[in-house]
Amino acid sequence: MKLLEYQAKAVFEKYGIPIQKGVVVDAVEGIDEKIRGADLRFPIVIKAQVQIGGRGKAGGVKFADTPEEAAKLCGEMLGMDIRGFTAKELLVLEKKDIAKEWYLSIMLDRYSKSPLLIFSPQGGMDIEETARTNPERIAKVPIDPIRGVQDYTITYALDKTGADGQYRDKLKEVVEKLYRMFFDYYTMLVEINPLALDDQGRLVALDGKVEVDDNALPFLPDITAFRDKLQEDPQVIEARNVNFLFIPIEDEGNIAVMSNGSGMLMSCIDLISKKGMKVHAALDLGGGATAERIAEAVRIMLGRPKIDTVFICIFGGITRCDEVAKGAVIAMQKNEAAGKHLILRMEGTNKEEAAKIIAESNLPITVAEGIPNSVDAIYRIKHEKKGA
Ligand code: GDP
Ligand code: MN
Repeated sequence: MKLLEYQAKAVFEKYGIPIQKGVVVDAVEGIDEKIRGADLRFPIVIKAQVQIGGRGKAGGVKFADTPEEAAKLCGEMLGMDIRGFTAKELLVLEKKDIAKEWYLSIMLDRYSKSPLLIFSPQGGMDIEETARTNPERIAKVPIDPIRGVQDYTITYALDKTGADGQYRDKLKEVVEKLYRMFFDYYTMLVEINPLALDDQGRLVALDGKVEVDDNALPFLPDITAFRDKLQEDPQVIEARNVNFLFIPIEDEGNIAVMSNGSGMLMSCIDLISKKGMKVHAALDLGGGATAERIAEAVRIMLGRPKIDTVFICIFGGITRCDEVAKGAVIAMQKNEAAGKHLILRMEGTNKEEAAKIIAESNLPITVAEGIPNSVDAIYRIKHEKKGA
């Protein structure tokens, strides 16, 4: 789960990482009072709260010198679109005078099997440009999880990038706090860009990006509470509420793939894509494929009007295929399934009985053997539809 900037900063604050004073606004009415009420010193900076970076370049970061200008800009920025995300909230902050913009992040690095510290004294909006043209100004330092952050971790990061060594202790303090947060909150990524060096030599987190491992959310009620404010896909929410994992894939696609296991799901998607077709969404059923669960999953899938073909691929030892078949029939008898086609591949107990249930249903359900045959069947059905 990716947090919004102000949510990330609320966690920074808990760890004593310095941030600017600010207030969140979410409605045009009363903006003026809200900003005045927060007692901010002008000039201020107004930032669109969206779960995507590069806001500065997309017009999502603006500055104002007076309360009037602030209110006007907030009115313009609320609801604005930033690369497909809507700014439902804005973060209004006291503008910081800054001398330097640094980049700092810690991510989980599967290659070194440890947290990886990434630092650059040339951060800010052009960090990607720095990575391309001045890679020597970016240091990547694995942190041994047993030893933690050491003096040499920071010394190396500063020396390697040609940064000013006099800030070693200050940087170490911030890295240590961020590192603690990285573990406590089961994050995949914590990023501060820019970590600004102000005119008095203090380090302040001007921006914050935090990505938490979804599997840890049951242990993190404070983070889970943030979810209401995020822009989430309605089917993702619906599926999550009944313990399915719904994964939107390609918006232009109109095939849905459902399976019990993410590996098989990916194989199915690969084979479908290889045949030149596009998958709109996938759904991991998890364990326990009962008729009700199958029917529910198909219903969620058909909540996407673009989906016209649903592929269900079940590979189970003790999974009862007749249950899967019953679920498919229940789902396809519903109104919302009109004009849609279902392809069913299943392995498990009572396979013959399942095939019989489907055959007798007289519904647009095709039973196929194995994944490649199923993909061929999807291809045929889609081409027949086009031809019709
Ligand atoms: P991003 O573009 O989504 O990463 O948004 P940021 O929050 O990082 O803001 C983009 C840029 O705006 C930063 O790199 C800074 O250059 C600038 N900026 C943001 N806040 C302040 C501030 O308080 N003072 C100053 N001087 N610049 C700021
Ligand atoms: Mn940033």
